[in-house]
Amino acid sequence: MINKVILLVFDGLGDRPIPAFGGKTPLEAAYTPNLDAIAAASQCGLMHTLVRGVRPGSDVAHLAIFGYDRERYYTGRGPIEAAGLGIPMQEGDIALRGNFATVDGAWNIIDRRAGRIRDVSEFAAALDGMEIDGVRFIVKPGTAHRAGVILRGNGLSPAVSDSDPHEAGQPVWEVKALDQTSEAVRTAAVLNKFNKRAYEILSALPENKKRQEAGKLPANMLLLRGAGVYPSMPKFNDKYGLKACCIAGGGLYKGVGAFLGMDVLQVQGATALPDTDIGAKLDAALKALFTYDFVFVHIKAADSLAEDGDFMGKRVFIEKADRDMARLRALPDNVLLIVTADHSTSCALKAHTANPVPVIFCNPDVRLDDVEAFGERAAAKGGLGIIEGKDIMPEVLNLMGRLPLTGA
Ligand code: ZN
Repeated sequence: MINKVILLVFDGLGDRPIPAFGGKTPLEAAYTPNLDAIAAASQCGLMHTLVRGVRPGSDVAHLAIFGYDRERYYTGRGPIEAAGLGIPMQEGDIALRGNFATVDGAWNIIDRRAGRIRDVSEFAAALDGMEIDGVRFIVKPGTAHRAGVILRGNGLSPAVSDSDPHEAGQPVWEVKALDQTSEAVRTAAVLNKFNKRAYEILSALPENKKRQEAGKLPANMLLLRGAGVYPSMPKFNDKYGLKACCIAGGGLYKGVGAFLGMDVLQVQGATALPDTDIGAKLDAALKALFTYDFVFVHIKAADSLAEDGDFMGKRVFIEKADRDMARLRALPDNVLLIVTADHSTSCALKAHTANPVPVIFCNPDVRLDDVEAFGERAAAKGGLGIIEGKDIMPEVLNLMGRLPLTGA
């Protein structure tokens, strides 16, 4: 009987035919004996992570796979990124993504990353804990120039615009309410006051004086974007009765796990880049099965390579992943292995597309089909047919014998 699950998500794995590969996709062109053997022992299919014809972003695609409806639980990327930074959040908190940047005296942006600043801990600490009109600001450093910002207080709304114009040379945007509610108007007003005060505090910071003396750009503004509210939401463990963990290199994916209440495990060598240590991540996943019922593993680089148009690099990365997949070929019978992707990323378009992705359920308890390779056109012949992201968890619960009976 299945009582453990490994869900392996290759970001942006699906693709379109590549002429240089004779019309095969990078996944089809790759030499993947281990993934093929796993597919041969699986029930296979294709999956629209959202619905047919909708081009998924990575964050909402993952939420869908875990059974969380984006309409209900997703208001912006801020809360997911903040969760990934380990900031404990409460229902109703407004979270934004921040960039420490350099502006001139008229608030025109000189550099959106403050001269590629490496560590913003001191700068975030200078703003952390600020109170404006009864709203407390929590500011925590992220990697390089990035930060997470939380607004905690009554009567707040995520319906506010960005202050980040996303381009150097532009002025910092005034934050505007995106609807007419008093909450949105209040939140915009508080954020504009925050921007002014943050500029004053950062400009006077000794660390910035030191940077300027060393010929570096000061980090004198925090640009904000992606406001979202931390929703009232059942945690993954409670929703499914499965103790879950997340193994990922990329901040957004650690964020998805943390947002849903999963334990985020740190793995040495997990970089979210093509050099990432996939073997170390899979070893960590196998070890995690002793402690957790559900292990989510995210592997990023196929997506980034496709976004660069690097179809050869994408194929090479898939082959590297396949070599490490050998250790998943002899899982005990109580472990269900699912291998899939969050969306397709086309090397030709250098963008996410709405093409469905392969999905396989591997365990002796699944109904096998005749598919013997892991790829887009092979999966199209599989017994699962075409499913949606939201179908994954019900299928998992079914295979685990945990679905309640409908009717008598
Ligand atoms: Zn993705």
